[in-house]
Amino acid sequence: MAGIYIHIPFCKQRCVYCAFFSSTRHTLRMQYVDALCKEIEERRLYIKGIIETVYFGGGTPSSLKEEELSKILTTIENNFKLSPKAEITIEANPDDLTPEYLAMLRTLPFNRISMGVQSFDNRLLSKLGRRHNAERARKAFADARAAGFNNISIDLMFALPASTHDSWLHDLQSAIELHPEHISAYNLTYEEGTPLHRSLQQGKITPLTEEENLEQFNTLIDTLKKAGYRHYEISNFALPGYESRHNSSYWNDTPYLGCGAAAHSYNGTSRQWNIADIEQYINGINNNTPETEIEHLTTADSYNDTVLTRLRTAEGIPLAWCKTKFGEEMYEHLMRMASPHIARGTLKEREGHISLTHKGIFISDAIMRDLIYTD
Ligand code: SF4
Repeated sequence: MAGIYIHIPFCKQRCVYCAFFSSTRHTLRMQYVDALCKEIEERRLYIKGIIETVYFGGGTPSSLKEEELSKILTTIENNFKLSPKAEITIEANPDDLTPEYLAMLRTLPFNRISMGVQSFDNRLLSKLGRRHNAERARKAFADARAAGFNNISIDLMFALPASTHDSWLHDLQSAIELHPEHISAYNLTYEEGTPLHRSLQQGKITPLTEEENLEQFNTLIDTLKKAGYRHYEISNFALPGYESRHNSSYWNDTPYLGCGAAAHSYNGTSRQWNIADIEQYINGINNNTPETEIEHLTTADSYNDTVLTRLRTAEGIPLAWCKTKFGEEMYEHLMRMASPHIARGTLKEREGHISLTHKGIFISDAIMRDLIYTD
């Protein structure tokens, strides 16, 4: 079992909070798609087995035209064995999802859309630099349903500056009214180098207090739980059976191939990532000198990755698996460091797993720091 991630680093405009690798210059798009397809072909042996998930992320994959998407998908199909039940996701900006575009997507193998809504509050959306408004997001969702997509995820952001308990509750209720199968909700972070971070430093915006931030996180968990969503990972909620299989594979140690500029790959023993520069990426692929960095993982690296990923999930870290995979020393370290948290009620040990409790979810970063292994 394995997954494929395709990075599309093009956006029509930059959102003020965004630190993802993308560009608003589309001049090299055709060359990029060609290089991407060449990379997919050349790295067909990187992962073995049936491909269970394919994920087009970005950037804005929905900025690509039919022929570009089709070319990439065909290259994947020609070089890998896709499961007939593969989850094939495209991230999309609501603004791009016209009925015509959605009808086109339906002719391709995509069976899941991840829609970057972020908020249903036009005032907040405009502060974030998003292209769409709430009405556009609702229309795009309805059109996606009408086109036949029955697995749609909505991305939301909380703790936005100038947001309130009421505005956040309104965002959540607006999302629930659409009945998406999946909701991802991310805590806004002020990433260095972004316009939002500069505004913060210049005192132009006031971030929420830690207390307000936690209150919105609590509202998120409560509201979605009451609406029938399972909180299966810190930032992810799903109706039963609609957990993102692609994201889950990142948390479950499944190998994945990442193609495109800035894309990361993992094959079980090493991680590697492509250069975050469109032109250099294209030249590297075309000249057979791909600009890639590789990190070979030590047992401690793999253990730490497990802490940082599996502890985010509702299932948590399987103890027997941990002992077999990382050995006695790491296992004992885990149990020793987890023990005070279990006593405090921020971690729980149940059915052979260690996982966060409701209380622990709110301080997950601190708990993970404690569980990490350092020499
Ligand atoms: S559309 Fe997505 S990737 Fe592009 S700038 Fe906005 S948040 Fe970043």
